[in-house]
Amino acid sequence: MRSALITGITGQDSVYLAQLLLTKGYKVFGTFRRASTPNFWRIMALDLEEKIDLIPMDLTDQSSIINAIQISQPTEIYNMAASSYVADSFECPQANVDITGNAVLRLLESIRIVNKDIKFYQSNSSEMFGNTPPPCNEESLMVPISPYGVAKLSAHHFVNMYRKAYDIHAVSGILFNHESPLRGLDFVTRKISNAVAKIKLGLCKNLVLGNVYAVRDWGLAPEYMEAVWLMMQQESPDNYVIATDVSHTVLEFATAALSIVDLDIDVIVTDPLLNRPIDIKVLRGWSEHTRKKLPWAPKTRFGQLVDIMVKADLQRWTDWQAGKTFPWDAYLYPNESKILRLCLR
Ligand code: GDP
Repeated sequence: MRSALITGITGQDSVYLAQLLLTKGYKVFGTFRRASTPNFWRIMALDLEEKIDLIPMDLTDQSSIINAIQISQPTEIYNMAASSYVADSFECPQANVDITGNAVLRLLESIRIVNKDIKFYQSNSSEMFGNTPPPCNEESLMVPISPYGVAKLSAHHFVNMYRKAYDIHAVSGILFNHESPLRGLDFVTRKISNAVAKIKLGLCKNLVLGNVYAVRDWGLAPEYMEAVWLMMQQESPDNYVIATDVSHTVLEFATAALSIVDLDIDVIVTDPLLNRPIDIKVLRGWSEHTRKKLPWAPKTRFGQLVDIMVKADLQRWTDWQAGKTFPWDAYLYPNESKILRLCLR
């Protein structure tokens, strides 16, 4: 039986990947970081709690990683864990680099020491390209401009290095922005869908945004996990860009979201405190290599993605107004203006 160890099982991508691997007959283990407040709402949202085994693991600690590998005896490891909110990486750059970059070295070293036959997937990011003119593919110049992007690029290089030096089946997925109703409220798409639903239901007045002219290539997360699994099933390891190859501004996302509930863009307010010290202007992928090599292409277009997200949040808030409670409370998020970010001031 194939078995998979997914690091960072509490995250958006991990739960969709776990769901996919279960349908393929895998035994699935997920690692999580111990915290005083549990964060298992996504596992519950997809009804996975009885279907996967959870292992507490700390990516800053090599022994902890080796323990998790010994407990789970995986045939494949998917490293989905990272401190993935780019703005936060300016706040805590060293901690971010340790989890996002150095931990990948610890994982690869653990595989080298414990069992070199374990296949390894590293979830990398379009943040690695920085402001390289789009569209970007696997060969494009990578000049990251955030601590998170720098850390991901080091992870990318470690994967390539361990593949060549130790013949480890190590794969790097370079994923452009991918969203869903399970996206964290920190990210702009979910922030928009959540606020739009609340405004429509009279629960708040404005949608407060930072740089609305940033351009991103947004796809649907569960579809991207199908590509991730396919990458790992190929004869030899490689690097793959996953993207829709189409991009839009944050303002276009917000406008589309508001139009779904017949609201006008005059509810949008911009706050310069939400701007980052430096921001990537345009991210757009060029996934030709992936589409040629894998039987995969994204199906969900921009308008459908916005529609899925807004309708999911509208349903949640409508249910909440009707007195329904949920096992997860992702939308109980403090007022963002009460979260003071030093680097944004
Ligand atoms: P990222 O591309 O991984 O950083 O994903 P995000 O969803 O966090 O941000 C996408 C883009 O939206 C970035 O260029 C942000 O600067 C921009 N943006 C504008 N307003 C906001 C906001 O209120 N929150 C977030 N997270 N991003 C915003």
